[in-house]
Amino acid sequence: MYKIDVLIQGYPGKSLCHGGLGWSTIALLRGEGRTILVDVGAFAVRPEFGKQLKAADCAPESVTDVVLTHAHWDHSVNYTLFPNADIWIGRVEMEWASATPVGFNPLPELYLQDLAKHPKLRLLEDNEAFLPGFTAHLCPGHTPGCLVYRMTGNDVPVVFSGDAAKNRAEMLSMTTDMTMDAGASRASLDRIWGLWKQEPGTLLIPGHDLTMRLDAAGKPEYIGQRRAGIKAWFNEDLAVMEEFDISAPRF
Ligand SMILES: [Zn+2]
Repeated sequence: MYKIDVLIQGYPGKSLCHGGLGWSTIALLRGEGRTILVDVGAFAVRPEFGKQLKAADCAPESVTDVVLTHAHWDHSVNYTLFPNADIWIGRVEMEWASATPVGFNPLPELYLQDLAKHPKLRLLEDNEAFLPGFTAHLCPGHTPGCLVYRMTGNDVPVVFSGDAAKNRAEMLSMTTDMTMDAGASRASLDRIWGLWKQEPGTLLIPGHDLTMRLDAAGKPEYIGQRRAGIKAWFNEDLAVMEEFDISAPRF
């Protein structure tokens, strides 16, 4: 039904003294006459995002739907790059984000003001079915209106957990980092496990980690190879850069 391409792989980490990395997952789904992006990343990802869209032979104008898991800057701001798309997000999330005063938080206030009056904004309720095969599931905690999406109709269903479950460690430990309400996040993790286990083979695509599925023992196994690194100028020569592979532990 849908061909799925994870254009940008989420990364399960944070920087030590420069705030959020914001390396979040962007997934492209094509089929049923629609071209759908689930989350659209941060400003910094734009060059790579553009490259990956081009490699997938997907013109920005052809995107019919941008489906946002929540309002944080690292998942939402690039909705502006898709002029013909409906923008889907939770009603609870938009109401909360719009009512939050400007502050030292991960909300992109000007983009949210724009989105609130966007002519193609589509607000979703808990358990709502929308687009072919999609349902929205309210999973609060990380933010009050985080939505997790389940897509059925392909041979295997897919669960997009956004930041309600950012990575494998959160799914396995049943605890979350960076949550506004730890108790709500715990209940949301239960709900996500329920969606994941509902049908064998279901893929989980989290907000900040590789795609996973459950192995025969019911443990999450990664699909694909992690790629992540940075390079820096520590030398006096501009041509000399130190590269740091951060795709795996150093030991
Ligand atoms: Zn977030």
